[in-house]
Amino acid sequence: MASIPAYERDPSLRSLLTEVVQAGDDRGRPFVVLADTILYPDGGGQPADRGQIAGVTVEDVRTVDGTIRHYLTGPPPAGRVTVELDWARRLDHMQQHTGQHLLTAVAEQRMGWRTTAFHLGEQVSDIELDTPKIAPEQLMGLEEAVATEIRACRPVTARRVSQQELATLPVRTRGLPEGFTGDIRLVEIAGVDLNTCGGTHVGSTAEIEALKLLGTEAMRGGTRLFYVAGARLRHLLGVHHERSAKLRQLVGTSDDELPAGFSSKLDQLKEAHRTVKALEEELAVECARALALGQGPVLHAHWPARDLTFLQRVAKELARLDPERIALLTAGAEGQGAFVLWAGERATIDLAASGREVAEILGGRGGGSGRIFQGKATGLSRRTEALARLRTHA
Ligand SMILES: [Zn+2]
Repeated sequence: MASIPAYERDPSLRSLLTEVVQAGDDRGRPFVVLADTILYPDGGGQPADRGQIAGVTVEDVRTVDGTIRHYLTGPPPAGRVTVELDWARRLDHMQQHTGQHLLTAVAEQRMGWRTTAFHLGEQVSDIELDTPKIAPEQLMGLEEAVATEIRACRPVTARRVSQQELATLPVRTRGLPEGFTGDIRLVEIAGVDLNTCGGTHVGSTAEIEALKLLGTEAMRGGTRLFYVAGARLRHLLGVHHERSAKLRQLVGTSDDELPAGFSSKLDQLKEAHRTVKALEEELAVECARALALGQGPVLHAHWPARDLTFLQRVAKELARLDPERIALLTAGAEGQGAFVLWAGERATIDLAASGREVAEILGGRGGGSGRIFQGKATGLSRRTEALARLRTHA
């Protein structure tokens, strides 16, 4: 491996001719180590690159015991190979990452907030700040200050320095790892920030394009601040715009009126639910009355479009009207029905035993309490059989 990998020497390289120096297998995952690489391995909050080596897809890049392993989806190539970088993904990472450097530096200089962590997410990224609360106007001020630095097209450069030199520089660092020896890599945003970092960055703040703060979340000991930068920001705006258009069409209002429009639709829906509930209540009462007029010791009815709750309401009403008899009530479609076996308080039937019998015939299971035995029924076509059995008990 070249002492400084190509992705670090020139982060704009998209393809590289190099050599496979080792091929291996890590628990069923084939990998190669290259003489040099333009694929950045996962580290420092920046996810690993993707790409291809001699046409074989690289699905992950990791540093293991000081060497960079390129994990492949197919058999490892050998000898001289061309490495191709998934540039869109890398540029996106460089925009989020360089955006983070700038955001962190501006937050520290303008507000005195220190960054304690950084996450480059798949959709949005965030930094953790050591401040308990951020007011909306502070957020706006911070975003404006970052935008000013983006417009200033400040060069972003990287270099390596010795530990002795590091000690003389005004570097923003959280300290070197215990026992670290060798050179330290510094990344500088001219006139704004100097900090230790091993990642890849765009060449100027202008290449960040834009950075939008998306809000905060309280966390123990600080505040998480969400943001998007670069091409992601345009993409995200596009997604939101399209979604708004669909919602406008659904609700029939302008963008500004969408929240009020939805709120009013939800109110209407609640009102409609209340009406349906009241009508079902009335219907259950009417159905029970009609049933009670029936002949024979076992009353019965089936409602294809109703459910178990409706059957319970009918049974409740029957209890008021007819204390002598029993009723088998069913609802729903074949395969997904429900049943209620009800017995009036003066009916002499072993409700639990009969209930289990009915459940078995109707291909379901159930349980009972009081004067009701209820359950699911998958075989409603056998209702007649269940009724015949009940009549032998009643
Ligand atoms: Zn960095």
